[in-house]
Amino acid sequence: MNIVVCIKQVPGTTQVKVNPDTGTLIRDSVEAVLNPFDEYAVEEALRIKEKQGGTVRVITMGPPQAESALRQAIAMGADEAWLISDAAFAGSDTWATSYTVSRGIRALGEFDLVVCGKQAIDGDTAQVGPGVAEMLGIPFVAWVRKIDDISGTSLRVERLMEDGYDVVELPLPSLITVVKEINEPRMASLKGKMRAKKADIRTLTAADLGADAARLGLKGSPTQVLRSFVPEKKTGGEKISGDVPELVTKLKSTIQELGVIK
Ligand SMILES: Cc1cc2nc3c(=O)[nH]c(=O)nc-3n(C[C@H](O)[C@H](O)[C@H](O)COP(=O)(O)OP(=O)(O)OC[C@H]3O[C@@H](n4cnc5c(N)ncnc54)[C@H](O)[C@@H]3O)c2cc1C
Repeated sequence: MNIVVCIKQVPGTTQVKVNPDTGTLIRDSVEAVLNPFDEYAVEEALRIKEKQGGTVRVITMGPPQAESALRQAIAMGADEAWLISDAAFAGSDTWATSYTVSRGIRALGEFDLVVCGKQAIDGDTAQVGPGVAEMLGIPFVAWVRKIDDISGTSLRVERLMEDGYDVVELPLPSLITVVKEINEPRMASLKGKMRAKKADIRTLTAADLGADAARLGLKGSPTQVLRSFVPEKKTGGEKISGDVPELVTKLKSTIQELGVIK
């Protein structure tokens, strides 16, 4: 089973500040880590490989420093790491990111399964996994909490829902995004860390992807951040108490005072 895991390097905190002028996240001076949901994705890929054989390749689109997230995945046990990096990718929104990552996966050659995290803890959109599947033209299931069965040609998974789960079967090659209920990611071993230190991180540039330049980076990003702001704290308000008839009377007079009803 040849598995590709998409990973993202993110700030190691959810308290990220936004640049009020550009509307983009301020990523400098914050420690960067492997997106926690992607650790579950790497772990699941390794478990499949341990049962069925094959390879686990990790891939990320990011700046050169995203290499450390790839090394973290190698330390866990991934076989190969690929960094998609080029100034042409700067300013990519989720659409351009999905396009670029899908081109990167295609550049690696044959694959059976692509595994992504449910979402990244900084962008938080959960759009990139489904976007990559769409652009690769393969089926996908998001929010997978368990892989029931995987053979050379198909996959049966449990998809987490608000009120339970669905069982979904899909042909391979396909893509899944995984939730934290799926497994317990392993700690990297000392041997794994040593291997990660020395591992060769392969780079893919825009030219290597043979991509349509108009679909890359800010130019290829249909999303426009018009304004970003922290919502004002709500102040005032009034708590009303009493039994139900009293509450209804008070509520009615309040709504009348506001002029909503006569
Ligand atoms: C106009 C605009 C400009 C932006 N410019 C930048 C910028 O210059 N630099 C920047 O870092 N961000 C930028 N962003 C944010 C960027 O769009 C998102 O961080 C990125 O597209 C991923 O979306 P997400 O974080 O919501 O990931 P999600 O969709 O929540 O991630 C889901 C899963 O997809 C996979 N995944 C996500 N991102 C990647 C990736 N890069 N490589 C491989 N797999 C991935 C992982 O498996 C992850 O768990 C910009 C956003 C906008 C709207």
